Amino acid sequence: MNPSPAIVILGPSALAGARRIQALYPQAEIHGLQGRVADVERTYDDFGDNLRALYRAGTPLIALCAAGIVIRSLAAVLGEKGSEPPVLAVAEDGSAVVPLLGGLGGVNRMAREIAAHLQVNAAITTSGELRFGTCLLEPPAGYVLADIEQGKGFVSDLLGGQAVRIEGDAPWLAQAKLPVTDDAARVIHISPHSRAVNSDELLIHPQQVAVWVERAGTELLSELHQALQSSGLAQQSLACLLAAPTLMATAELHAAAAQLKLPLRFIDDAQQLPPLHSQHANLRLLLAAAPIDPTQLGRPRGRLTVIGLGPGAAEFMLPAARQALDEAQDLLGYETYINMAGPLRPEQVRHCTDNREEMQRARHAFELAASGRRVVVVSSGDPGVFAMAAAVLEALHESTDAEWQRVELQVFPGVSAARATAAKAGAPLGHDFCLISLSDNLKPWAIIEKRLEHAAAADLVMAFYNPISKARPWQLGSALDIIRQQRSPETLVVLGRDIGRPGETLRTLTLGELTPDMVDMRTLVIIGSSQTCRFPRADGGEWVYTPRSYPQP
Ligand code: SAH
Repeated sequence: MNPSPAIVILGPSALAGARRIQALYPQAEIHGLQGRVADVERTYDDFGDNLRALYRAGTPLIALCAAGIVIRSLAAVLGEKGSEPPVLAVAEDGSAVVPLLGGLGGVNRMAREIAAHLQVNAAITTSGELRFGTCLLEPPAGYVLADIEQGKGFVSDLLGGQAVRIEGDAPWLAQAKLPVTDDAARVIHISPHSRAVNSDELLIHPQQVAVWVERAGTELLSELHQALQSSGLAQQSLACLLAAPTLMATAELHAAAAQLKLPLRFIDDAQQLPPLHSQHANLRLLLAAAPIDPTQLGRPRGRLTVIGLGPGAAEFMLPAARQALDEAQDLLGYETYINMAGPLRPEQVRHCTDNREEMQRARHAFELAASGRRVVVVSSGDPGVFAMAAAVLEALHESTDAEWQRVELQVFPGVSAARATAAKAGAPLGHDFCLISLSDNLKPWAIIEKRLEHAAAADLVMAFYNPISKARPWQLGSALDIIRQQRSPETLVVLGRDIGRPGETLRTLTLGELTPDMVDMRTLVIIGSSQTCRFPRADGGEWVYTPRSYPQP
């Protein structure tokens, strides 16, 4: 499967065309020239640099501009690598689709897809494909060419006038315009078996073999290779690995699937398995009559990813979190955060809940993931800071459900509000600090008081989360009373409100000046230590930081 394409445009006149293509590839991002195009997913400064970087990364490229510009831009990097991504030029009004590079990466298929979507013809120039109406070297999903280099010579021979016969079942070749005769010397073999290929043959493996793994140890891969060898089946004919759900969390199984680049599916009912071909020590080879679509067999291992969005702005979200969001089938979280997690696709299911129903949300997430879905639980900032990661772990810890234990659970960090606010102000958390939630919803106020006393006595910088709310109006005032007993009125305070979101404000003041009415539930409060200091910035604001060294006694 190719990675998502990048749709690259130069000016606003190409944006409408780009959006039409994006409707075909919803995962594709539109790249626009900085300062010229607004409202696109990505901007770049230099067209050529951007195009070359994407090409090198193997990203399929759809450029809505003159083919010549694309060719000139990529000229310097062509030939750098053996395999290349599809590269297409599309007229910005959608009237022409020109596949340029990536013949073996499926560029003609993409060109035809885009052309059909735009209701024009694709400018296909590949002779084999024009002549035969199919690219023999790029068989459809479920079929794999055994040897591409050998295949190139074979296609040249057919173009040179050689006839061909087909042995095996190749339904897609029925419509092709191949020079077929029964006594031809050239043969296209469609077979799950491995065989030595000579130059007058084209060997295509249908992926109709599945491996049922009964026991997975470190020897799994070598056992599988032996099984294939003794049974005569080709590795390229493998469609997937299958196992019982009890093996779902077995590392060796996942390692083998990753190594073989095969999907791994779990089946409760062995009745559903394709017919047995051969039994081996810890595994069975199963051979279906036609290519296997693994998505129709059993279910995958479910995945639950707990992510943090960061403070708000998209560029402060971790790429891994963005990827998890893009891959998610279900999203759970407080509605405001789910809305911040976009762009999402319509088929991604949003389970919006109230901010207070955290345990219920965590359990719901496990139920969905245990059924094989890819689930993301969304927090703001960092999911491990007064947020969903601990709730999810608590739900798992309490549960005795084996299906929940087998879910692939991962926690991805994010930029927490204290870090985002501190970075705006300079470096107030540059020395030892602590993070305290002033909410007494989940812990007694007496504990909070004790922690504040000790943190203040230890001269730690403090960051307060959940500082105040309608239901908790007096707590911040009491907290400040405790701190003022140990810290001078000149102590610096930073207030960050809606950091990284529209209308963000940052304010520096002193502990003497601070009153609770300056703070609301969207504010992060940093109380400096005795060492926290400030100085003017050239633009009129000021920098706040806590030095890394502390005075020796
Ligand atoms: N997991 C989040 C914190 C959730 S607790 C994180 O790591 O940031 C919610 C509190 O975080 C709010 O009451 C506020 O004090 C703070 N907060 C969250 N986002 C903020 C932002 N963008 N700007 C300022 N404070 C924020």
